[in-house]
Amino acid sequence: MPKENLRFTPPENEEELTPMMRQYLAFKRRYPGTILMFHIGDFYEMFFEDAKTVSEALELTLTGKSCGPGDRAAMCGVPVQTVDTYVARLIDRGFRVSICEQTEDPAQAKGLVERDVLRIVTPGTVTDAGMLKSDTNNYLGAVFSDGRSAGAAFCDISTGQAYITELDAAVDASLREEFALFSPRELLLCEDAGGSPLAAYAAAQDCLVTLLPASEFDEAEAKRRVAAQFPDAPVLEDAPLGLRALSAMLGYLAETQKTTLANLRTVERYTRSQYMTLDAVARRNLELFETLRGHEKKGSLLWVLDRTETSMGARCLRRWMEQPLSSPAAISRRANAVELLIGAEQARRDLREILGGVQDLERLVSRVALGTANARDLAAIGASVSRLPELKTLLSGFDCELMRTLADALDPLEDIAALIAASIADNPPVPLHDGGLIRPGYHAEVDELRTLVSDSRGVLSEIEARERERTGIRTLRVGYNRVFGYYIEVSRASADSVPEDYVRRQTLVSTERYITQELKELESRVLSARDRITALEYEVFSAVRAEVAAAVSRIQATAAAIAQADVLQSFAQVAVKNGYCRPDVDASDVIHITGGRHPVVEQIIGRRAFIANDAQLDCGDHRCAIITGPNMAGKSTYMRQTALIVLMAQLGSFVPADSARIGVADRIFTRVGASDDLASGESTFMVEMNEVSCILRQATRRSLLILDEIGRGTSTYDGMSIARAVVEYVADPRRLGARTMFATHYHELTALADRLPGIVNYATTVRRRGEELTFLRRIIPGHADESYGIEVARLAGLPDAVVRRAREILRELEEGQPSPAPKKAAPKESAQASLADLGASDLVRRIRALDLDELTPVQALNTLYELRTVAEKLP
Ligand code: ATP
Repeated sequence: MPKENLRFTPPENEEELTPMMRQYLAFKRRYPGTILMFHIGDFYEMFFEDAKTVSEALELTLTGKSCGPGDRAAMCGVPVQTVDTYVARLIDRGFRVSICEQTEDPAQAKGLVERDVLRIVTPGTVTDAGMLKSDTNNYLGAVFSDGRSAGAAFCDISTGQAYITELDAAVDASLREEFALFSPRELLLCEDAGGSPLAAYAAAQDCLVTLLPASEFDEAEAKRRVAAQFPDAPVLEDAPLGLRALSAMLGYLAETQKTTLANLRTVERYTRSQYMTLDAVARRNLELFETLRGHEKKGSLLWVLDRTETSMGARCLRRWMEQPLSSPAAISRRANAVELLIGAEQARRDLREILGGVQDLERLVSRVALGTANARDLAAIGASVSRLPELKTLLSGFDCELMRTLADALDPLEDIAALIAASIADNPPVPLHDGGLIRPGYHAEVDELRTLVSDSRGVLSEIEARERERTGIRTLRVGYNRVFGYYIEVSRASADSVPEDYVRRQTLVSTERYITQELKELESRVLSARDRITALEYEVFSAVRAEVAAAVSRIQATAAAIAQADVLQSFAQVAVKNGYCRPDVDASDVIHITGGRHPVVEQIIGRRAFIANDAQLDCGDHRCAIITGPNMAGKSTYMRQTALIVLMAQLGSFVPADSARIGVADRIFTRVGASDDLASGESTFMVEMNEVSCILRQATRRSLLILDEIGRGTSTYDGMSIARAVVEYVADPRRLGARTMFATHYHELTALADRLPGIVNYATTVRRRGEELTFLRRIIPGHADESYGIEVARLAGLPDAVVRRAREILRELEEGQPSPAPKKAAPKESAQASLADLGASDLVRRIRALDLDELTPVQALNTLYELRTVAEKLP
């Protein structure tokens, strides 16, 4: 049937539909906003609009299925065996999927097969390992706002981690920051916030926005729900809005998981002041997790720092990098542990070896608690926890506060190891209903039934031998097939010699098959034993799983300790490999780095090739470093390395420098390079100015600002004026006075150092021999006198003719004689000779005629000189 005859919407009168289609639509109504996968035999099928959506999203064939007399619904289907891959792809594309199973055996069903939705999978609630990245948390977020302030909750149900916070002023910007902190894949909002800026922002970040009715955020219900889920959690009275967000989230999770959330045991109340704030822009510009171009981990700070051995450690490292610490004491606790680990080479090697054998306990135990773990998951937990006693001993050997805390938090879980070792078979299969899960010797009845089944094989050979003897048919054999069960097979030539008690069942081309009373009885004994074994094994397995689930809190606490120990050893490993030093972190405002290097660039170009540089910033005489120098000379690298060293120090890591004193920063802001935000319809310059205004509004005196070429995206005069005004603002302690690095090609700004306190000039060094330009990449006090822009353009391969002409124009400009354009002659009055003769009205006309957007800084300055010369000559 041609596709145009397919129905994409159900008929208004559902009476016209088949009973199964009516059942489908009833479920579709109960689970709005989801793709409903409907189990029919060997397939999951989708109908009407869903069929179209899925066939387009996954490039599957769209067909039809009869849905009523003469009517066909659009349909698309996926096989039962591979459904998870299709669900994963749909989730990846931001769909919610509800999976409607057959809940009775279709063969036993009288009429319509009973069905129910047993699973709802959404981007923020997946727990299946195949749909998750092992080194990244998968957060679901919820936000509730009362108009003035807001609360937020975030949860990774696959690991059982939950966080809650309360925000006050500047709700919009703060919410974006919270959002950037967790990068949730799905965000729950109250239905009346559907059109809010946050909803638009989240959607633009590829986050699925799910709107819930206001009743889900009800205040009284929130208290009840949260207290029921976290009976031991401290009262969250200081976060009344966060509590309502958390409650809506619990409701949503319970609905999607279709089970109690046994793996959610604690919720962490956090506040901003505990951490350094990094907004999405800074995180992107500093290439913390992926490169700006290419979006790859390789080339990011994470790529350098991640020598973790476990997925838990890898995720923990990301979390730490998202929230660098702000308390020098907390930072020092981590750095003490790193220092000890650096000094204990053998212990560090042992630690890495043990961690290498520990699997993802956080996610495994979450599946155990949610009742979705299989026997392989339990075996993986068993193998992992068997390493814990030696891990505990090893950690206890380090004499520092953090390692002791971790060792204490680590439960050796010997009971769990023993339980799993005793009960779960080696290499168990994934399916839970086919047997093979339970280790021999663990459960008496399982053992007995297995013996019965295996003995039956002996009994069958005995029967075969005896019957051959009795009948004298040497080719007689006992066989089995699913339709007839056990049978005795003889060739048709021997069929005359079979005894009377044989009952013929099947005639094939050359053989006859019979059954006997004895075989029938044996068969029913064996088959029922097999059924019983698989059912019993599942029962025993479920009991073991429940016992492990009862230990979920202990396993989670242990997993958290392992994750932290793993990150600390990773820091130590990286520090040793790359020759980092321990920074001196304190509450001062001093950033003093000697021999600092860029942690990523030095890995890429080699440590020897990288030129180390010093840096000095504080809130006194070195508030604002203005850095000038040619393109490609290393300005950006220098500024970013300073920011990265500060950030690494606040993680508790060692840093790429000879020495470093770091007075903690409350935030790092960056304004780097030009990027078009085409999606938002804003121009390069608009994006730049947006970012600058966010920085100036949010920065405090304790912040670190990295500003690269502010004002480049507009006309020279405007750009230079903005750049200068920004420098004056950030450097002025009455306004901001924050530690700032400011790279610019407006050499005119270097004059500010003489006029305003706290501003210091730095320049990148270059050596020029003839036309050869060598970047020395050393940053020295002072300012650059030349831009070498044309030289760099030549290096970049600009055609010779263009380079020659550019030099010509530059020379003329520098000599104060703007070159006439080759074709159109310049207006007469611009010639130097006529200047002195101009009157006042000419001067005004001339000023009016200036196209400020087109002037380069040098041209502008020259013109100004010219105009002043004219003005001086006026009466
Ligand atoms: P532009 O003004 O064009 O943005 P820039 O001055 O900011 O240029 P960077 O982008 O920092 O220059 O550096 C250009 C290249 O120089 C880097 O990609 C890096 O490979 C190399 N480089 C930068 N700093 C150093 C250094 N200290 N030692 C060795 N190589 C360096």
